[in-house]
Amino acid sequence: MINGLLILTLLAFVVIYWRWPSIQNQLWQKKYQATLLNENQKTILLRSMPIYQKMTDAERQKLERHIVWFLNEKCFVGCDGLVLNDAMKLIVAADACVLVLNKPWPLYQNVKEILLYPSAYYAAQTSRDGAGLVSYHNTVRQGESWPGGTLVLSWHDVLEGNRLPSDGHNLVFHEFAHQLDQETGKTTGTPLLTSSADYKEWGRVFSHAFTQLKSHVAYNMPHVIHSYGATNEAEFFAVLTETFLEKPSELRQYDPQIYRLLVNYYQFDPIKWH
Ligand SMILES: [Zn+2]
Repeated sequence: MINGLLILTLLAFVVIYWRWPSIQNQLWQKKYQATLLNENQKTILLRSMPIYQKMTDAERQKLERHIVWFLNEKCFVGCDGLVLNDAMKLIVAADACVLVLNKPWPLYQNVKEILLYPSAYYAAQTSRDGAGLVSYHNTVRQGESWPGGTLVLSWHDVLEGNRLPSDGHNLVFHEFAHQLDQETGKTTGTPLLTSSADYKEWGRVFSHAFTQLKSHVAYNMPHVIHSYGATNEAEFFAVLTETFLEKPSELRQYDPQIYRLLVNYYQFDPIKWH
């Protein structure tokens, strides 16, 4: 009898464990599906977020549900004396959720916390030279994305990203693109894709575009994607994401293939928001 009960309990745990993603999704749907932003929050976004201004009503509703989900599920921490208010969290959440507008919950599965500094901050960095000598120094940073699920952002630069919506720079897009990349468990510039054919296509188009940017930067030729993208594949994906959202027409003209790849991955075409 006891053995039978034990087996039944174990079976129940296995079923719950196996079905947990779908159970959790149903719970979230129930909790957040009908919740939209209040009028004050919408006014803040209309004032501070150019993409939100251009969205259709259906896109705004989808984004708002994502934002409500994000604000409830992720933790925000003010650093270096920065006292956080709801508007700050709202703007970061809104920018982050644009990237995953057409993706299902859970959004940014690995992200646990967002640390906000008032402006650019110092971070300790360790480097090792060719002889193996390790040195420690401080570098100035605007943001970071850690594979463990922590993002660090300079609030000043978050605001600048929204104030200048067509300059190709948006700190939140950049750092959250790193998080999408890191969902694979590595930071390689290739995010999670759905099929081996998609990986093959990504490898072909992405490598070509990365090599082209490195060459354009090296030979001082015109390039739409910021030269920081030539640093490595991971930075290329993050910078490319910023360019895709902020300079879509220019990017499509510069490299139609990489543009199409990003439209397929992000599942939206940002030209309509410009
Ligand atoms: Zn980066």
